[in-house]
Amino acid sequence: MAVLAAIGTGATDFTSYVDTRVGTRSEFSFSHGNTYPATGRPFGMHLWSPQTGEKYDGWKYDWKADRINGFEQSHQCSPWAGDYGVFILMPETGKLVTDLKERGASFSHDRETARPQYYKVTFDNGITTEMAPTERCNFMKISYPRSGKAYLVIDGYSAFSEVSIDPERREVTGWVDNIRAINAKGTFKCRFVIRFDTPFEEYGVWENQGNTVEPSVTSKSGKGAGAYLAFKKGAKVNIRIASSYISEEQARVTMEKELGTFKTLSEVADDGARVWNALLSRVEVSGATLEEMKTFYTCLWRSNLFSRIFYENDASGNPRHWSPYDGKVHDGKMFSDNGFWDTFRSQFPLSNILHPTMQGEYMQAILSAYDELGWLPQWSSPGETGGMIGNHSISLLADAWTKGIRTFDPEKALKAYAHESMNHDRFGRPGWQGYWTLGYVPFDGKRNESTAKTLEFAYDDFCAWKLADATGNEFYKRIYSGAMYNYRNVFDPETGFMRGRMEDGSWYEPFDPVEWGGPYVEGDAWHYLWSVFQDVQGLINLFGSDEAFTEKLDAVFTTPPVMNPGSYRYVIHEMAEMEYAGMGQYAHGNQPIQHMPYLYLYAGQPWKTQYWVREIMRRLYNSGPTGYPGDEDQGGMSSWYTLSALGIYSVTPGTDQYVIGSPVFNKAVITLEDGKEFTIIAEGNSRENVYIQSATLNGKPLEKNWISYYDITAGGELHLVMGPSPAMGRCISKDAAPFSLSGPAR
Ligand code: CA
Repeated sequence: MAVLAAIGTGATDFTSYVDTRVGTRSEFSFSHGNTYPATGRPFGMHLWSPQTGEKYDGWKYDWKADRINGFEQSHQCSPWAGDYGVFILMPETGKLVTDLKERGASFSHDRETARPQYYKVTFDNGITTEMAPTERCNFMKISYPRSGKAYLVIDGYSAFSEVSIDPERREVTGWVDNIRAINAKGTFKCRFVIRFDTPFEEYGVWENQGNTVEPSVTSKSGKGAGAYLAFKKGAKVNIRIASSYISEEQARVTMEKELGTFKTLSEVADDGARVWNALLSRVEVSGATLEEMKTFYTCLWRSNLFSRIFYENDASGNPRHWSPYDGKVHDGKMFSDNGFWDTFRSQFPLSNILHPTMQGEYMQAILSAYDELGWLPQWSSPGETGGMIGNHSISLLADAWTKGIRTFDPEKALKAYAHESMNHDRFGRPGWQGYWTLGYVPFDGKRNESTAKTLEFAYDDFCAWKLADATGNEFYKRIYSGAMYNYRNVFDPETGFMRGRMEDGSWYEPFDPVEWGGPYVEGDAWHYLWSVFQDVQGLINLFGSDEAFTEKLDAVFTTPPVMNPGSYRYVIHEMAEMEYAGMGQYAHGNQPIQHMPYLYLYAGQPWKTQYWVREIMRRLYNSGPTGYPGDEDQGGMSSWYTLSALGIYSVTPGTDQYVIGSPVFNKAVITLEDGKEFTIIAEGNSRENVYIQSATLNGKPLEKNWISYYDITAGGELHLVMGPSPAMGRCISKDAAPFSLSGPAR
């Protein structure tokens, strides 16, 4: 009856644990998250954020700044991907200043409120701005001081835009076309309707290239075209904003649907709090410090922002989407804004627990994207960018299927993947010819990321094999049954690393295990040694023994965090973050090595996993502006924490297993979509008592280092007893180890 309890009197406001400014103390050369105060709804189509950055680029909001120069609709996944569909509103008092660099108003963080559903700031000049978005709209309220003229600047951002002012209807309508995704360029328009409850005393247009202001003119189009309005002194202006990629008419339909019933901003904010609380309360944790509660719920919040819903409901309630892949409007749902390289390992395995229904729709949308693009998506923002490496759509599809989320045609998924894995044009699998003939992508001696690609392709091929196996598809099973072992072809037993291998079979020389780039991407040989998600036992076999393998794991933490920038030529932020973290070559600031602390579970030393995951959570995460040890990446880094703090993690998406680490909380109750509850108890847990002494699942002894997805979804209780010293005899056999292709059959 957890649902009833949560809405009864005294219900916890989980949103009060969340600060959306987590991770915002970031800059180009060093990331503590590279986030921004993303205000909105779970997986909302449009998010809203204050902007402090003085350029129209991805560096949106920096904790260190003391001026805000606008409030903008944002869709940013990562500053490195830029943003799209942005327009900005900025209230001003006294004098009209349009220029982005000039118009900023000073503020301090103690006069900001930054919650998932609501953002408020009072500037030193007396203006208060509040925002409360819905999934596709925003309700803003601006309270101007009694003295000084009350202006509002609407900025068309960095590309072409159009504005029209209708003083009679008290509306500003228009569109912006700023977008970077190559296949969507030229067809993209984010159309907006901005409706005011207060008459305009003055108005005009401007453009942000030369800051030319044209008073009393009602429309303008061109690069950076914008508008401005003036209201009476001391006005309190309520602003309703909706936008659409389909049409202005659709934006009006959406505004009516999402904001029609709300009279005030508080009502929208309360509704937002209700929606977020319903979600956040589905993982109810207790028995840790306030700081750990804040960190946990802030991570859980960010784990539920991306991917973004990318469809709009028409007047009859039917979902439609403008496709960022072919530029046309299609029936049905679409999801976008996610780099699967960042998220297949943590965010999707978490979402499969919390949101199986949405995941089912998502898997259909992946195949719709394939129909529209001709390729499976890989790094969408919102169209396909071709960012990073791997063909990880298949990881999502296989993981969903294995977990009973079977909303799609597996044959079609496998066919799409076959095309993906045996072709390369703009997208697909670069180096596929070598991969299929030599068994690895040959290194070009420069920076073709060949070894990282080989490893991730082999994992993806495992996922295809798994999906084919589960659906009795012998044809595709045969294709991938050998390739999924291709990791072996880039392992050099002499040095004990995965190395760059030339077309003639020789290893690239000279070899420097701390040299970044080249055959790797955003990492070095220490980071890519472990990318054998599908066959950790096979990797152990390459080392020859559990002892040799665990020594190498230990060495990750004890090898100094020195680096050779290699093909990057300079210190990229991921390198600086590894050094700063102070955990040797363990670079939690980026994805490749994040599963590595869990690999002790496969080699008879589960207590080292328990020790290290607790150290990583304690030392590298917090609830403040320095909350992350590197790019947060669409919920990727947050989902690692969310799962790990619960005491579980998904090393091998595509299987039903979640490995067991060491929970932060004494008690966690996960309420599943159907209302069942799965409880994780860590008896005697504390900062010192990080080691599992014994475990039961639903009252029966649990002598293995993993549980199944189906153990969770059936509801029940995992009960761990924690202590201050490792239980060295516990769960050390191969029967206790999680899934490996070369492990015991199960
Ligand atoms: Ca990253």
